[in-house]
Amino acid sequence: MATKTASTSTKSNWRSRAVIRPIEAGSSAECVACGERVKFQAKIKAQQVICNVYVRGRWDRVEHFHLACYNTAGEPHGHAA
Ligand SMILES: [Zn+2]
Repeated sequence: MATKTASTSTKSNWRSRAVIRPIEAGSSAECVACGERVKFQAKIKAQQVICNVYVRGRWDRVEHFHLACYNTAGEPHGHAA
């Protein structure tokens, strides 16, 4: 796992972040928005949104969303990239 060391670019790096990732086989995460499994489907390139949620400047949890659910929810953890 390659992680970039945080540069001192902007002041608040410790906010919740959302990224779009392909759903991997064997995924057992549940979508926070609809409560259903974020499950891998071989036929379609399904994508999920993974959010690192920070509460008061500290990492709190990871949340998974279906990509569509995340957009429907109004991108609660910021724009997914
Ligand atoms: Zn969902």
